[in-house]
Amino acid sequence: MTDSRFIPETHLDRVLVDRDRIAARVDELGRQIAETYRDQDLTIMAVLTGSMIFLADLIRRIPLMMHIDVVSISSYPGRSTTTRGPRWLLPISTDLKDRNVLVIDDILDSGLTLQAMLSAVRAMEPASLRSCVLLRKERPDLETRFEPDFVGFDIPNEFVVGYGLDFDNLYRNVPEICLLSEHATGEQA
Ligand code: 5GP
Ligand code: MG
Repeated sequence: MTDSRFIPETHLDRVLVDRDRIAARVDELGRQIAETYRDQDLTIMAVLTGSMIFLADLIRRIPLMMHIDVVSISSYPGRSTTTRGPRWLLPISTDLKDRNVLVIDDILDSGLTLQAMLSAVRAMEPASLRSCVLLRKERPDLETRFEPDFVGFDIPNEFVVGYGLDFDNLYRNVPEICLLSEHATGEQA
C-alpha cells in the first residue's frame, strides 16, 4: 500500500489522442478560425469547465483582436459518466448583440449542452454565431444532432478524461485524452 498522490497508471485505460496530435490539431483549428474571422470583431464564449485547457491553447493560436468570456454548464455532475442534461452554473454576463460569437466546448455528445448554449446566445441577437468543439463522439444512434462548425477529433462513443475533461472533477490535468479504466470509476468486479 502506498500513500503517493500521483495519478495511478491503472486509472487510465489507454491514450486516445496524444499531446502531439492535440497540439497539431489545435494549431490547425487556430489557423482556420483566424482565417474565418480575419476581418471581423471576434467574441469567444467558452463553456467551462471541461474546455479550459483547450481554450487556453486555442486562443494563443489565434492572433486576432478578440473578446473572451466564459459560462459554466454542468452535464455530468459528480461521478456520473452519462449526461443528466445541461444545468447552468454561470450564465452569460456579456452583451452579445451584434457580436461575432464563437462558442467553444470540449466535447459534443448528445449535443444538448451546445444547443442550450447556442440558443442562449442566439436570443441575444449576435451578428453571427459559430461553434467549435475539440472532440465529437460518434453517436450513430442519434437521428439528429447539432453539428459544430469546427471539430478537432472524432472519437468513439466512450467516456474520456484529460486535457480538461474530468471524472468527478479529477484527471483534468492529464495532458492526453484518455479512456478511463474501471479502476477509476469503481465499476470493476
Ligand atoms: P452533451 O450535452 O453533448 O451530451 O454533452 C456535452 C458535455 O458533457 C460536454 O460539455 C462535457 O462537459 C460532458 N461530456 C460529454 N462526454 C464526455 C466524456 O466522455 N467525458 C467527459 N469528461 N465529459 C463529457
Ligand atoms: Mg462541458
